[in-house]
Amino acid sequence: MNTLIQPLLAERDKAVNWHPYTHMKTAGDVIPIVKGKGVYLYDDEGKKYIDAVSSWWVTLHGHAHPYISERVFQQLKTLEQVIFAGFTHEPAVQLSENLLKLLPENQKKVFYSDNGSTAVEAALKMCIQYAYNLGKEKTKILAFRNAYHGDTFGAMSVSGRSIWTKPFGSMLFEVVFIDTPNAENLESLKIQIRRIAKEVACFIYEPLVQGAAGMLMYEAEYLDELMKFCRTEEILMIQDEVFTGFGRTGKLFAANHLTEIPDIMCFSKGLTGGTMPMGITTCSQEIFNAFLSDDKYKTLFHGHSFTANPLACTAALASLELLLQEKTLTAVDRISKQHSDFAKIISKHPDIENIRQTGTILAFEYKTGQNTSYFNEIGKVLYDKFLQRGIIMRPLGNVMYLVPPYCIASEELDFIYRNILEVLDTFKNQDHCPTDAAD
Ligand SMILES: *Cc1c(COP(=O)(O)O)cnc(C)c1O
Repeated sequence: MNTLIQPLLAERDKAVNWHPYTHMKTAGDVIPIVKGKGVYLYDDEGKKYIDAVSSWWVTLHGHAHPYISERVFQQLKTLEQVIFAGFTHEPAVQLSENLLKLLPENQKKVFYSDNGSTAVEAALKMCIQYAYNLGKEKTKILAFRNAYHGDTFGAMSVSGRSIWTKPFGSMLFEVVFIDTPNAENLESLKIQIRRIAKEVACFIYEPLVQGAAGMLMYEAEYLDELMKFCRTEEILMIQDEVFTGFGRTGKLFAANHLTEIPDIMCFSKGLTGGTMPMGITTCSQEIFNAFLSDDKYKTLFHGHSFTANPLACTAALASLELLLQEKTLTAVDRISKQHSDFAKIISKHPDIENIRQTGTILAFEYKTGQNTSYFNEIGKVLYDKFLQRGIIMRPLGNVMYLVPPYCIASEELDFIYRNILEVLDTFKNQDHCPTDAAD
């Protein structure tokens, strides 16, 4: 196509598209990506970018993976979609069987949806209706203060109140927010929960890592204690592994770091290796049984047009196969190890603080003297500097983090680390407060 006549893709985009989490008034030109391969994305001028954030934490095995694309292509030619009420198909059955084998033993049933938010919606509805079906009055929900569980209304309600949820504040249902547990606050958390336990329908949490809050991390030991307490108080637990699932934390699931088990689990993001949108909510037999009744009003009336889409199920099956290969599990270990080596180096940097790591997730903060927040202007400056260097990082305010695809080579990780140090150096050399350069 002649680019002299045809406006550039970025301009055509601006005319018609509204981008997610984007302040459209001040947004710069978006970058047209024409191709992905492994850990790289290529723009329309042939410049390549290393995807250090797995395209919003979804890509596991690299972009346009030949094995996944071949499997999906074959499925596309065979069966692309069928209504999942009254019908089933091999990819959905196989995927449920394969996934359940990897989860805590009490997880017995798989409910399909389209993304992380809908997986959370389904989980919340299961818990609330569980109480309803048993004739119990339970109206309260427990969640962590900095939680993020998605952008639909139920998921927003159980997420921490922030600038993201502000316009909808009065429309969100009430949730009791508690702090993440540690050695100091555990007992007071229990006291807080015990007071309302009888009225609590469920407790929803991101295990070990609170992603969107800025990769905040807390220890498995104290989550275990809290879960054990919820169990004795008969509070249902929803473990949102939308982000932590499929190897991110160094083990297959965050559940593998814990001894206590949840009643319900949510998955998405890495579920299909980051190739197709899909959400999964799994639950225990006990939850499922509360909906098994002669009374039709006890049915879970929830579903989406594309429930258990065969293409997405096939992508997930192929991705799981790749994930369980020795080669991939070794790569997860290697990335975790490389991260902790780099954590030691960067911890000595005078402008960096709060270094934290869980498996393949590494985060650290640029000292700005301001409070850490999403709007912390430094994030935009860093984002642009890394882009110039061909690295896609998307700092959450002053929190820099790495969540690479597992196919990343050790030299490619070193390239990112090296550039982080260099970018930090440019700040020092310019000898000015980087926040000045924000606009
Ligand atoms: C991203 C995320 C969600 C929402 O998933 P979407 O697919 O973006 O709707 C829910 N929970 C957690 C923990 C997440 O990180």
